[in-house]
Amino acid sequence: MSTNSTNHRINGRPDFVKLQSAILGEVVRPGGSTFDEDRLAKNLRYASEPAAIVHAASAADVATAVRFGRAAGLELAVRSGGHSIPGYSGVDGGLVIDLSQLKAISIDAATRTARVQAGATSADLAPAAHAYGLALSTGDTGSVGLGGLVTGGGIGFLARKYGLAIDSLLAAQVVTADGEIVRASATENADLFWAIRGGGGNFGIVTEFEFQMAPVGAVYGGALVLPATRDVIRRYLELSDAAPDELTIISFVMFAPPAPFVPEERVGELSLNMLVVYCGDPADGEAVLQPFRDLAPAIADTLAPMPYPAIYEYLKVAEIPGRVVVRSQMSYEISDDTLDVILKSMETAPSPLTLVNLRVYGGAMGRVAPDATAFVHRDKKYMTSVIVHWDEETDDAKALAWAQALFEYIRPEGAGVYANFLDREGERRVSEAYAGATLARLAAVKAKYDPDNDFHRNQNVKPSVVQSTARAA
Ligand SMILES: Cc1cc2nc3c(=O)[nH]c(=O)nc-3n(C[C@H](O)[C@H](O)[C@H](O)COP(=O)(O)OP(=O)(O)OC[C@H]3O[C@@H](n4cnc5c(N)ncnc54)[C@H](O)[C@@H]3O)c2cc1C
Repeated sequence: MSTNSTNHRINGRPDFVKLQSAILGEVVRPGGSTFDEDRLAKNLRYASEPAAIVHAASAADVATAVRFGRAAGLELAVRSGGHSIPGYSGVDGGLVIDLSQLKAISIDAATRTARVQAGATSADLAPAAHAYGLALSTGDTGSVGLGGLVTGGGIGFLARKYGLAIDSLLAAQVVTADGEIVRASATENADLFWAIRGGGGNFGIVTEFEFQMAPVGAVYGGALVLPATRDVIRRYLELSDAAPDELTIISFVMFAPPAPFVPEERVGELSLNMLVVYCGDPADGEAVLQPFRDLAPAIADTLAPMPYPAIYEYLKVAEIPGRVVVRSQMSYEISDDTLDVILKSMETAPSPLTLVNLRVYGGAMGRVAPDATAFVHRDKKYMTSVIVHWDEETDDAKALAWAQALFEYIRPEGAGVYANFLDREGERRVSEAYAGATLARLAAVKAKYDPDNDFHRNQNVKPSVVQSTARAA
């Protein structure tokens, strides 16, 4: 450490005045006019009361905040979009390093590359890139921050054609635990570059990403909402699996939402709500989607040529802060038994916004070697996520019990989990995210870049020098 703890405390307390004088951004403390708003996570189950929130205005601010926090003995939390499912981007009594103002995006049309600060969201990037006929494979919800999404992997509407967000990552600027600003790429700090592609926030704070962008302009897509029966869901899974890479569908077994495109009399009906992106010729997309349309008379159908960013209009509801529980797994199979139990469970759903998210992957995402990045689940075909959103704290027990019960039922079919869809579920589940040799390799990188585990508010990988021999060069 280059900092001295006595310089960062006054009368035994962290000297936040000193921190404020050292940065361009703003330090917000309890009692500050925006503190109550700033401290809230999107998942209100995990509201926290930090000692201070640093709104960083530069990578240098981030580095200063890291050095200050460590020297002052403050627990660190890192926040970009604030959508952490387990609420790890808040911390009681600690220092939240908030990157949400670091949103600069610069696009080089000639090389089809983009430099994007980590506080930008999918909804910030998609329209900026669309102006150049480009897109990045990110996630399904516009307000999710790239800082958290990309470091975990980033699985969205272009995954089958262009892979995960990390598969388009060329380099990143990272603030390490000792407050250094370094670059990570295939040729610079290659071990760090490997680890931040799927290993989450364990290894440092990414301040900027450099991406290879994909040539995506107009797509054929929108929402196709069908009645949810076992046969419809089964055929949807089969058709998605057999479809060309251009087609990625993110679907939800849910009650038809009160959206403008759903006829009023059908709102609340149990449905398979498919959010569709076909990123090729729209005429081909229409043909590829016809068998899906033929599965059943639609409750709603908005499929049409549209600009790619328009897909982010469909999950605005997921952007609203509320109480959320998620239980998720990857798998090679989804059995009829699982589909039956999902449908049966929905009869006792604890809230109107109860969802079972089904995703069919493969394609480009599946063709990357499992050890090329820290996201190992390349060969899994499916992801099933039980998700409940609700409002009142008094409903917590009901919602959590329902989600856990359904998850326990489908769990024997599971073969790992995507780290970004984990809640606070313990070390064993973290090891399911980093299966095989990956956890040991991550632990060795952690020992090199964050030996004291200062970045531990995440799906935590503990530093391990013992395992360092397992680390690839
Ligand atoms: C409604 C919703 C929809 C989602 N949809 C998808 C989806 O389609 N695809 C998908 O892949 N994921 C999805 N996710 C999961 C999402 O990727 C994770 O929750 C992600 O961590 C959120 O990132 P954030 O920056 O918004 O969150 P934050 O709460 O700001 O951060 C979450 C964690 O990420 C780490 N982190 C944040 N910023 C940085 C940084 N700059 N550098 C290093 N580490 C950092 C920290 O460990 C932090 O605790 C979804 C989540 C929600 C709540």
